[in-house]
Amino acid sequence: MTAGSAACPLCQEAGGELVWQGADHRVILADEPRHPGFCRVIWGAHVREMSDLAPADAARLFATVLRVEGVLREQLAPDKVNLASLGNVVPHLHWHVIPRWTDDSHFPDPVWAVARREVPPRAIDRTVLLAALRRALGGARGGEGAAPI
Ligand SMILES: [Zn+2]
Repeated sequence: MTAGSAACPLCQEAGGELVWQGADHRVILADEPRHPGFCRVIWGAHVREMSDLAPADAARLFATVLRVEGVLREQLAPDKVNLASLGNVVPHLHWHVIPRWTDDSHFPDPVWAVARREVPPRAIDRTVLLAALRRALGGARGGEGAAPI
């Protein structure tokens, strides 16, 4: 890991409920009560940008992002999925994969904006979602053997 990792929360902890751990990246289900199903795909090493990765690594990371998006669509039928790689606050490479509904608290704004309305969070079955994500992401190491998307 590069310098700065000691102060980086994504170097120190999972960053949410660990869904899947691969050889060099992981998937977590975030604790975001207003946005159920919000997942993050987090590169293991402390790098800042997608272009810091070798092309094959970047492709593998993004394949996981797409797998997660596919499961969220299949399981939750959102109106939209938001994919975002910001890292402005925590400059450790990660992708947000966020199911969105037109009646969620922030729609059509990004989830980081000021809420437009107060609504009860959509009820989802976390257990079913976790099982589906783990099934789609395959074995414990690196995603090898997972079904192609
Ligand atoms: Zn880090």
